[in-house]
Formats: sequence, C-alpha cells, structure tokens
Amino acid sequence: MKTKTILAWFAINQIKRKGKKMPKKVLKRLKHFLKSLELEKKSYTAICREIGISYYCGVDSSTKLQKGALLEYKTLGLYLAPATLSGINLCPFACVGCILACLGGSGHNLIEKRSGKNLIDISRIKKAWIAMLLPEVAEKLICHEIERERLKRDMAIVSQRIRWNLAVRLNCTSDLDFSHIMRKYPDLQFYDYTKDQWRTKRPNYHITYSYATMSPARIEWYRNKLANGMNLAIPVIAGDVKRVLQDIPFAFSMDTTDLRFLDGREASFGILKAKETLHTLEGVEEGFILDYEGVKELIRVLKDCNGFKSQIKNNKKLKHFSNV
Ligand code: SF4
Repeated sequence: MKTKTILAWFAINQIKRKGKKMPKKVLKRLKHFLKSLELEKKSYTAICREIGISYYCGVDSSTKLQKGALLEYKTLGLYLAPATLSGINLCPFACVGCILACLGGSGHNLIEKRSGKNLIDISRIKKAWIAMLLPEVAEKLICHEIERERLKRDMAIVSQRIRWNLAVRLNCTSDLDFSHIMRKYPDLQFYDYTKDQWRTKRPNYHITYSYATMSPARIEWYRNKLANGMNLAIPVIAGDVKRVLQDIPFAFSMDTTDLRFLDGREASFGILKAKETLHTLEGVEEGFILDYEGVKELIRVLKDCNGFKSQIKNNKKLKHFSNV
C-alpha cells in the first residue's frame, strides 16, 4: 500500500476522534511508520509525492493572504491542523471557544465539510504530523519553499517585470515557535498572531497578540501586551463590526489585508470579522467571538491599562460608554 494511502487512513481515523488526543498506542505506530520512511534523506519533490501533498506552505493560498496583492505582497503561509485535530496539540494556548470556532474550519474547508469531504483536513493533519513528529523534514520543506519564493521575487525584480515583496506566516492555523527558521532568513519579513504570552518579537518577526477569553489571567496578558505597544486581535460577530469600528477610536480593521507588520498602529484593537464555521455560535457562547457589548466590556476591564488609558479618557467618541 502507498505511503499516502496509509497516512490518509491514519488521518481519517483521527478525524473520527473529533479533536481528541491520539491514543498512545496509535501515536507510537504512526511515529514508527513515519521514521521508517527516512524522509529526511529524500528531496523536496520526493517527500511531497510520498506523503501525498502538492506543497507544504502555499503562496497566497487563502482569500485573506491574497489581499496582500493590494500592497504588492505575496505571502507564503503554512496551514496545519489546528489545536488537537491531528491528535497532537499545535495550539498550546488555545481556549475552548477558539478551538470550536477556529478559522481553520472556514472558507473552502467549510464548503468541503458541508459536502461530507475531508480532503483539506487530511492534508493539514499530514502536514501537522510532519511538523511535530519529523521537525527536521518540516524545516527542509519550509526552507525549500522560502528559498524558491525568494528567488522568484528576486528574479522578478531584476527583470523589472513586476515588483512584489514576500512575507511569511508560518502559523496560519497553529501557534508554534518557528524562531529557528526565522533566524535563517533575516532579510525576510515573518509575522504571526499568537496567544503565547512568551513569544518575542524579532527584527524580522512581527507579532499580534490574540484575544481568547476574559479570564483574569488572560486580561493580565492583554494589559501587558498593550502596555508594550502590541495590538490585540479580536474576533467580532459580523453584524457588529461596523459599529465597533465607528465607535472605538483605537479599533481598526484587520480584514483589509493580513499584513500585520504594515499596520503602523500601537496598543490598538484589531477587529476581525468572525468567519463562518460549523461552530461559530459556540465560539460566541464561549466568549471568544465578541459582540458590540462584549468589546465594550473588554474596554471596561482594560480601562486602566497603560497602553491606552489616555486614549479612552481623552476621546469624546467614548463618552457614551457610560461605564468606561
Ligand atoms: S489558537 Fe488560533 S489556530 Fe489554534 S485553535 Fe485557536 S484560533 Fe485556531
């Protein structure tokens, strides 16, 4: 039986576990099988062919990433199976609401799920296993693709045909530390959204902190990040986005493009229109996706934060937020 068929079989069985961790026995068998393939000795093309993927990271492979074209950017993005979809946790700082309403289940993946198919999830699960169980192989694939896209960009500039920049987002649907890869390419711009309070910026790495819940511990993290000038990305229900953007002067849309390193904002709320998934409503119920009142409540609990207390106190637009 072909490797890609065996991996797809493992993946389909994992999908049936609905996000539960993979049983130890199964994980051991999967690890043993992956090691036996000796992928680290193979070329980029041979690895992709063997595991049955067309690419590891894709260029502008989602509508959000494609919006970078407005600012002459192409984005190399890596979409892995989020949270414990692969049976291994790729989002150690996730909350219940974000796991349920994760954008990994939106867009084409949602259309697939509704038609009873799982091809996107199977591909992302296989990639997640490579990232977690064979990290040296993942690094080889990522570096190959980064260097290939960087060369294409340089060639385009030299030939004066078309000028575009390259950005890299390795955590499109995961929250892992890829600093070992960023260190290799100081000339390239990397960026992420993260819920990891210990993740640090680098000269070539921009981070936007992600809202999760209003638990006291998370609130402390938001305060700390805002006080340090970082922006906080907040998913808001579609119907309330316009009102939030109109009424809150330190809120701006993060849907225009995904190029967060070009935001030019500090200590602000980045508003993301919540994407439709099979569990959007549960995301709202768990307090991960906020409505207008939820954003107002968040401002209330953060009002003393050094990052923006002066913005709140001095702005007339906020005066109708009577309790702020
Ligand atoms: S941390 Fe991000 S990628 Fe992971 S489950 Fe939550 S929303 Fe999805």
